[in-house]
Amino acid sequence: MQKRLTLLGSTGSIGESTLDVVARHPEKFSVYALTAHRNGDKLVQQCLRFRPEVAVVGDAATALQVAAQLREAGCTTEVAYGPQALVEVSQSVHCDTVVAAIVGAAGLAPGLAAARAGKRILLANKEALVMSGAIFMDAVRDHQATLLPVDSEHNAIFQCLPREMELHGGVSKIVLTASGGPFRSREPASLAAVTPDEACKHPNWVMGRKISVDSATMMNKGLEVIEAHWLFGLPGERIDVLIHPQSVIHSLVSYVDGSVLAQLGNPDMRTPIAHALAYPERIDSGVAQLDLAQIAALSFEKPDYARFPCLALAMQALAEGGLASATLNAANEVAVDAFLSRKIGFMAIAQVVGAVLNGLHNRNALALDDVLEADAAARRAATEFIARISTADALHLAGTR
Ligand code: NAD
Ligand code: MG
Repeated sequence: MQKRLTLLGSTGSIGESTLDVVARHPEKFSVYALTAHRNGDKLVQQCLRFRPEVAVVGDAATALQVAAQLREAGCTTEVAYGPQALVEVSQSVHCDTVVAAIVGAAGLAPGLAAARAGKRILLANKEALVMSGAIFMDAVRDHQATLLPVDSEHNAIFQCLPREMELHGGVSKIVLTASGGPFRSREPASLAAVTPDEACKHPNWVMGRKISVDSATMMNKGLEVIEAHWLFGLPGERIDVLIHPQSVIHSLVSYVDGSVLAQLGNPDMRTPIAHALAYPERIDSGVAQLDLAQIAALSFEKPDYARFPCLALAMQALAEGGLASATLNAANEVAVDAFLSRKIGFMAIAQVVGAVLNGLHNRNALALDDVLEADAAARRAATEFIARISTADALHLAGTR
């Protein structure tokens, strides 16, 4: 049966890779809704090609512009805007599959709506699980939704876990691989002055700017450890991080008998996306076959927590539990944004996150409102902290330009 998709964040890196796979299999997939934030022009191009019933954008002005362009081109796609419209296309009876590929906290409400509507959810938006893992997983269970990981490491682990087992019997550990990002072997002292463009130049993957900065600080791996905790139900102590600069092994599962299963492939998100789209089938993703003879060598090393304090902060938040991960995530979003707009330097990202995480009182996450309150409080605290340090930091940046 054809799957009918809502693609949240269709104009982003994951969104475009998803549409690339979808276009290869028109008999298997059709598009009910596409959503973007501000990039109306790209959304119009996507609508003309995939003819969704609904397109959602962030604000009224973009909606007007998109609607006018679509009308002119004779396209009947209906245009809506705002957070409630994202929720509506995610829970609509007209779709069965929701690809959650919005970046950051903005993806939480529509992702949760999809879970509560019992959809098949292909999750790229790791921030949703980091913020509210318990609530999200409860919603998936209570409404018989299906959650399939798109994040390459989690998709790899999903592929390496036994299918029909109770509570992952026999699994001793999961191992998340990490490339180490663009600054893996840079002198820590030289990192204070790196620019947003340098931080976004990932050696192996082309991604949106927020996750690219997260990869450079290794906060991305920290968020992924928290994501793995919720997806696979293992405590932090049984989730290891392993640096693997080639990004060929996407993650591994260790079993009690000494076996280690790994998933390998070229670093191209179309592989995990195609896997999750077609699961349990396998379909062509457009990704070239892996040529191990050509790659010749794979290497591994331990992560350096002193060089990457964000990784340590994420581990701390997971160990603390409660709302600490929501606080960590919000502070990080604000700090990364400030770095990308050159208000603070690269090393200040960890400083902001550390100050907010250690400065705010942690509580239990009982309901979504608690998560949203913690998110808002952390954003306020991060913004205040940045205002205090950014003057000094801006002077430093000006001196290095
Ligand atoms: P991106 O910046 O390229 O795209 C983000 C998408 O979200 C865009 O379509 C944008 O319009 C939309 N968006 C942004 N802010 C929004 C808001 N406030 N409201 C509604 N929509 C909004 O990001 P990406 O690299 O595609 O990443 C998307 C998600 O997938 C992130 O959570 C990221 O961590 C995760 N992820 C990405 C990759 C990758 O290779 N790019 C890999 C694994 C996981
Ligand atoms: Mg990943």
